[in-house]
Amino acid sequence: MNFADVRYPIETPPAPGKTIEVAPGVRWLQMPLPFSLNHINLYLIEDGDGWAIVDTGIRDEGVQETWEEIFANEMDGKPVTKVIVTHMHPDHIGNAGWLCRRWDVELFISRTEFYHSRGVMAEQDRGFSKVAMRFYHRSGLDQKVMDEIRDAGTGNYKRTTELLPFGYRRLLDGDTLRLGDRDWEVITGSGHSPEHVCLYARDLDVLISGDQVLPRITSNVSVHPMEPEENPMKFWIASHHKFKGLPSTAYVLPAHNRPFYGLHDRLDYLIHHHEDRMEALEEACMEGQIAVDLLPVLFERELDSFQMMLAIGECYAHLHCLMDRGRMERTIGEDGIYRFRTAGAARTEPHDEAEHDRPDDAPMMV
Ligand SMILES: [Zn+2]
Repeated sequence: MNFADVRYPIETPPAPGKTIEVAPGVRWLQMPLPFSLNHINLYLIEDGDGWAIVDTGIRDEGVQETWEEIFANEMDGKPVTKVIVTHMHPDHIGNAGWLCRRWDVELFISRTEFYHSRGVMAEQDRGFSKVAMRFYHRSGLDQKVMDEIRDAGTGNYKRTTELLPFGYRRLLDGDTLRLGDRDWEVITGSGHSPEHVCLYARDLDVLISGDQVLPRITSNVSVHPMEPEENPMKFWIASHHKFKGLPSTAYVLPAHNRPFYGLHDRLDYLIHHHEDRMEALEEACMEGQIAVDLLPVLFERELDSFQMMLAIGECYAHLHCLMDRGRMERTIGEDGIYRFRTAGAARTEPHDEAEHDRPDDAPMMV
């Protein structure tokens, strides 16, 4: 399995302030992002006498100005009818509040994503709580990086996200959302965020996938201090199997990179990728290891403190999944740092030694 299994029908993304029609009644646009990821894909869906927006870009003056250009030039003079958000990360939800107020329309989102976002926005402890610092200390992170993480707190999220509307319209797995004369099925996944919404139009065989399925980069799957014993990898892998229930022919409109074909191949690759990383962690933990020393097993690049925070979360995600499967044991030392050791003295099953390509920019944290 490699990246050749993914096909991109469109070579050149839309220019800033422009859209490209990617399916009947569906237009693709991009907004800039201030990190290495550099852009997010957003979509407009024809909705009767107007347009429903799917995802919104981070809160930023330049992004809002670009939205105004889209309103003026790319929507045939019609208004916005709905704001739909796939999940609570700032590049997706950042302008939702502004757009809902700008057009006096409702926000459509899953319940967990709505309240999770509201919870982070309401966080008062800019210095992060003792709970968070204990969480990172247990990984073995050095004090300097912990200080930087503590000082940032939840400030980055608040800076890049507008206040949400008071109310919202709940999107629930299995629902059908009627937009114009077309039905879109609501399908949720979990792992990258808790209740991530995707939309599938069966008559078009088009899936708007957000960060749930990306063609090239690997979505971040992290344990967070807020829920330090969670097992998101279990749900992430289960979600990939669930999305394989859609046709392999689906045209996938993702939040990063370009629209693509190859849904099943990509899902198989991602499942294999995480299983492979977990096997690598098992091999690295035969003698017992602390989490921070396991980061090179998962990440080839140098990491800054923000990336380090996500990387520790991702490392825990793989380790917790192994613990849940009875393949990893955890103890805590007198220094308050966890040691992870592979369960059992020897493997009982041979494992797949096949190497596969990894994208040179992976894993990217979205
Ligand atoms: Zn995301």
